Amino acid sequence: MNGRNATDPAVDVPLARSADNAGIDIAGLTKEYDAGSRRITALSGINLRIERGSFTALLGPSGCGKSTVLRITAGLETATDGTVQVHGQPPSSLRDVHRLGVAFQDSALLPWRSVEANIRLPLEIAGRRENRPYVDELIRLVGLDGFARSRPRHLSGGMKQRVAIARALVLEPEVLLLDEPFGALDDMTRQRMNLELQRIWSSKATTTLLVTHSIPEAVFLSDQVALMSARPGRILTTITIDLPRPRTPELMRSAQFHGLCDELSEALFNAEADRDG
Ligand code: ADP
Repeated sequence: MNGRNATDPAVDVPLARSADNAGIDIAGLTKEYDAGSRRITALSGINLRIERGSFTALLGPSGCGKSTVLRITAGLETATDGTVQVHGQPPSSLRDVHRLGVAFQDSALLPWRSVEANIRLPLEIAGRRENRPYVDELIRLVGLDGFARSRPRHLSGGMKQRVAIARALVLEPEVLLLDEPFGALDDMTRQRMNLELQRIWSSKATTTLLVTHSIPEAVFLSDQVALMSARPGRILTTITIDLPRPRTPELMRSAQFHGLCDELSEALFNAEADRDG
């Protein structure tokens, strides 16, 4: 169902949707940080194309700039050089009209608010009318039926992350940016969350960029995995994941799945060796 209503301020904002159905287009992206007396080049000439409605994972050694790419794509930071276009717009334009959904490793829920009230928060911030049926639908979608009135302290880590994802979806964003949303969870919970995320993504067709350290997670969820080098971050290679959908836990035991994981693992090992060497 459509959660937007005719009185939403964002509905009237003319979004220059490009004829070619643009997804996320990152070109020559460079980011330098001031660190005391020296400058750190976090990203150096990143190029990445992500098709609209597709799922891309960004994989790479710690500190290679994955989160920086995500934050710039979210309009939370600016580039030193290069451009990022999201659905034909600069990130800040989409962010200002609340068409980007973002979730981080720390679910960052407000402890005094119920599940339902946490999910509703972006509607309040955006000045949108409360859409209770849609919030209820999201609660069902992320598998939290019966927990609408629970406070975060009564939820497990996995449940909190599901709330964070529902909250990121409540404004029906065109683009979903996820920074290690399941990084703090144990393996079993993480696998269940991956299944859940696949289900949510396939029902919404949201252009999704996921930062992750986990090779199986990247392979399981993605249409494309972009592998980054150690700092300064560059895209080493992008690998198309042409596994059939919907992907099942059994698929994770297939030779094809393991082959893709091995390919990425070797490339990642080489990227780490470059950094350490
Ligand atoms: P990743 O997500 O791959 O672990 P980050 O994007 O967090 O990497 O960081 C990339 C590099 O940029 C790291 O060396 C980090 O220390 C540096 N960095 C990130 N944010 C800042 C900042 N605000 N100020 C200075 N350096 C930063």
